[in-house]
Amino acid sequence: MRWSQSFLVTLREVPGDAEVVSHQLLYRAGLVHKLAAGIYSYTPFGFRSLRKMTEIVREEMDAAGALEVDLPILQPKELWVESGRWDRYMNEGILFHLKDRKDAEFALAPTAEEAVTDMVRRSVTSWRQLPFNLYQIRTKFRDEIRPRFGLLRGREFLMKDAYSFDIDQKGLDAHYKKMDGAYRRIFDRCGLEFAVVQADSGAIGGSASEEFMVVADTGEDALVFSDAGDYGANIEKAMTGKLPEPWAGEEARPFGEANAPTPGITTTEGQAKHLRTTPARIVNTMIYEAVGADGKARLAAVLIRGDLDINEVKLPKAIGALHVRLASEEILRKVTGTRPGFVGPLGLLPFEENPISLFIDRSLEHGANLWCGANREGLHHSGVSIARDVMSQPAFASVVEIATAREGDPSPMGAGTLHIKRGIEVGHIFKLGTKYSESMKCEVADQNQKMVPLAMGCYGLGLGRTIAAAIEQHHDDVGIVWPVPLAPYACVVASLQRDAAVLAAADKLYEELKAAGVEVFYDDRDERPGVKFKDIDLVGFPVRVVVGGKGLARGVVEVSTRRERKASEIAPDRVVEVVKRTLAAGATTLAV
Ligand code: ATP
Ligand code: MG
Repeated sequence: MRWSQSFLVTLREVPGDAEVVSHQLLYRAGLVHKLAAGIYSYTPFGFRSLRKMTEIVREEMDAAGALEVDLPILQPKELWVESGRWDRYMNEGILFHLKDRKDAEFALAPTAEEAVTDMVRRSVTSWRQLPFNLYQIRTKFRDEIRPRFGLLRGREFLMKDAYSFDIDQKGLDAHYKKMDGAYRRIFDRCGLEFAVVQADSGAIGGSASEEFMVVADTGEDALVFSDAGDYGANIEKAMTGKLPEPWAGEEARPFGEANAPTPGITTTEGQAKHLRTTPARIVNTMIYEAVGADGKARLAAVLIRGDLDINEVKLPKAIGALHVRLASEEILRKVTGTRPGFVGPLGLLPFEENPISLFIDRSLEHGANLWCGANREGLHHSGVSIARDVMSQPAFASVVEIATAREGDPSPMGAGTLHIKRGIEVGHIFKLGTKYSESMKCEVADQNQKMVPLAMGCYGLGLGRTIAAAIEQHHDDVGIVWPVPLAPYACVVASLQRDAAVLAAADKLYEELKAAGVEVFYDDRDERPGVKFKDIDLVGFPVRVVVGGKGLARGVVEVSTRRERKASEIAPDRVVEVVKRTLAAGATTLAV
């Protein structure tokens, strides 16, 4: 492809809304064009990367025995009501939805569990037709709260989504393992460094799930790894091992023996200092509104050690709620009689006639000689013992695991210390189990003629996001350093002058490379060498061939890899061979 005919336009300046490097480089290298917030066109150049990504994904899905399908994006509301996801997604505000001329409502698919389950339940009647795994590579729509970071978080984006169907859990486990392997091969082939971590299943639901994460400082996800190498989890899901307990070995003091004023001091740090203790000995009591499966909100008092934070992703699941939100100050005042900072777990009033349930973080279970708010402005109780004073109250009380893991905490696996890194989620695999097959009655007759709901898995992978993540991981201060498999073109030929000999030599190399099957781009523009070099570095062709008058006079051209940016002089008749060998070896260094 000749640059002069390629529709490729590079930009000098960084667009104002581009906060992360991949976003800036995707724009500047002319790969995408923004139509609206979170909505992007791929240029002919950018689309080549997307197509390569698509092919890699398709090859690995096919190799893993998955079958490609094409499910509608426009989906009737009724299906979403059947699965129970309509309200949930509407509440989250993530669902794009619209009405037809008859006022019937539709969703624009954010994923396709409903559509695929509907197809399967209408076509499959017997266990003999199982197992299978159906996949598609199609556009998804999500009205993201913050559609930023370019292709990393779009509102319209390309996803590979696969759905496996089995008669039992054993079959599902096998499919899940296969997809895990396929994902590892896909991200390996893309030249990405990645980690697989335990994940929260979120609104998709199901039991186990793992995320494929590209480790990058700009990632939106926080990941927790044990330095013993045996534990990795998204912080949304991460657990810690047993934390040191400052009260260990102490005799429990009587409750309220030394109650102390804490006038106007609402922060844990401030209180600890004032009470001459440590935050770990202060019990923070947070009042949440927890919305259950029946849509009703109940109040929950959640107790956490003052040196820890509540993980609001783990919390709903741990206390059996669909979602949670902090209670308003007005509600707080009604049930505690005080304001944030002085709330405690003892003597909470019922709310709308329901006693408030207590949920105590595991780290406090054996706590003694603690401080807690007295439900009175400016007062703290002393000598609180969780088992003796809190668990013994008539209200429902249970111990849960809801703390956010911290850098330096012990690993839950026993050995090692936890460290936090940032990552970009490029893939997510789930064991759905029977969540959708039960609600949507996707059942078949098993060997004993008994109707059973199918065991399902689902497996998502963002193609545009993976390309952006590849750029986050592979760039330098002058531009993109494409991994060869995702590069729009593998090689560029540039002529430095317009004189006939240079042009003829460059033309010839371009044609030879093309004939040899190299994906080659030809910078034939009438531009100064400096401009060409800048653009070529920005766009990030893995291999560069430069033809200039001076070199030609000595019978050489300059060949370099983008990664090294160190030119070697090569005789023109050896260029094809050197370029091919370099590309085959991943184009890190020149294979002369
Ligand atoms: P996130 O937590 O980042 O919002 P998610 O957990 O909602 O993502 P899934 O529902 O698991 O994402 O979707 C499967 C895959 O689709 C993700 O792993 C990611 O690669 C991709 N993806 C999800 N949302 C977006 C988006 N807004 N833009 C681009 N890709 C996306
Ligand atoms: Mg996810």
